[in-house]
Amino acid sequence: MRVVVVGAGIAGASAAFHLAEFGVEVYLVDDQAPGRATLAGAGIVCPWLSQNQDSRYQTLALAAVRYYPELAKKLAAAGESEVDYELIGGLVVGPSAKELDPVVHRLQKYLAMGIREVGEVRSLGLGQPRELFPYLDPGLAGVHLSGAARVSGERFRVGLLNAARRAGARQLAGTAALVRSGASVNGVRIAEKCVGADAVIVAAGAWSGELLRAIDLPLVVEPQRGQIVHLKVAEANTEALPVIVPVLNDYYMLGFRNSRIIMGATREPDSGFDFRPTASGVAEVLNEGLKIAPGLKSATIEEIRVGLRPMSSDGLPLLGMPISATGLVVATGLGRYGLTLGPYVGLLAAQLTVGKTPSSDCSCFRPDRQI
Ligand SMILES: Cc1cc2nc3c(=O)[nH]c(=O)nc-3n(C[C@H](O)[C@H](O)[C@H](O)COP(=O)(O)OP(=O)(O)OC[C@H]3O[C@@H](n4cnc5c(N)ncnc54)[C@H](O)[C@@H]3O)c2cc1C
Repeated sequence: MRVVVVGAGIAGASAAFHLAEFGVEVYLVDDQAPGRATLAGAGIVCPWLSQNQDSRYQTLALAAVRYYPELAKKLAAAGESEVDYELIGGLVVGPSAKELDPVVHRLQKYLAMGIREVGEVRSLGLGQPRELFPYLDPGLAGVHLSGAARVSGERFRVGLLNAARRAGARQLAGTAALVRSGASVNGVRIAEKCVGADAVIVAAGAWSGELLRAIDLPLVVEPQRGQIVHLKVAEANTEALPVIVPVLNDYYMLGFRNSRIIMGATREPDSGFDFRPTASGVAEVLNEGLKIAPGLKSATIEEIRVGLRPMSSDGLPLLGMPISATGLVVATGLGRYGLTLGPYVGLLAAQLTVGKTPSSDCSCFRPDRQI
């Protein structure tokens, strides 16, 4: 069986890796579009703190969280141990214990449901969060949970690609168009070259809608720009810092190796495919972030990244085979949580493509449900 995967973000890279593992002949096509979400993604893996409390999302995200360490181990066994996935804990901060009560209740609810992955939950009094993240305002209280992880989306993606290549997957550079004959999708065209296939997986992120519309298949997925700032501090040991999620606004920060702290992010639903960093976007992130962590005021701005999140209209992934086409699997719509979901969604897409029973029931994510 030959499968073409379009898009080498975290979802497509994972699909290609798993297909290669299944012994399938795989071609992975990517055009390195500026605005690839995986490159810009912050890397928080902690669905219990996310704003999406939809039970369908939470069930999928829990399975994804459980799969991460297994996949990281598999990649390490394949020689890819630098994927930068770590269980480092998370810290929700707010001005007083009262504002943090709903967070404690939510986490306790998940623990009562038997979700041990939330980890140990403990409340921290005023000033205590700063002992764990030294740049924070001393007037903040907090709730710490040990079950939050962080990942470098880009390192994980590259690890998947390297392992896929070693297992036989081939990478092609260029922009793919789908080739359709009647109801069946039977390959892609890249410039003048056609690559025939028994099935095509569209994991093209925010660009997936355009690809499908070109063959008259509707798919509602819109780009949402996110701007994120990478800071460098003098201290070396930033990679062990917990993920910081404030309770009063939408902004967050997290540490990585090499003295790097990431502060994010804007959410710009009307951005279209405009991938530029803007003055107001960067100002927004810095203003909000520095209110929580004034200790970062003198940090160096190392880099500004911009990514286009692939947003579905109901905030849930678009995963599966559209009824009106054969030989086509869609794996996108991962929105704000694609670094959490992407590796697992790639596995599910690969399983659906080769006719294996998927590890999770994904029928509620059918890509044509919204039409
Ligand atoms: C600022 C920001 C912060 C985020 N933070 C988090 C977070 O903390 N936690 C979390 O879980 N998620 C987070 N996300 C979301 C996450 O990054 C995305 O949902 C995820 O990366 C989407 O991955 P993807 O593989 O679907 O798409 P992408 O990474 O965008 O990859 C799509 C790829 O397809 C290629 N492509 C498109 N069209 C074609 C074509 N026709 N032919 C060939 N190639 C094509 C593109 O070049 C691109 O490489 C964040 C996103 C942003 C922008």
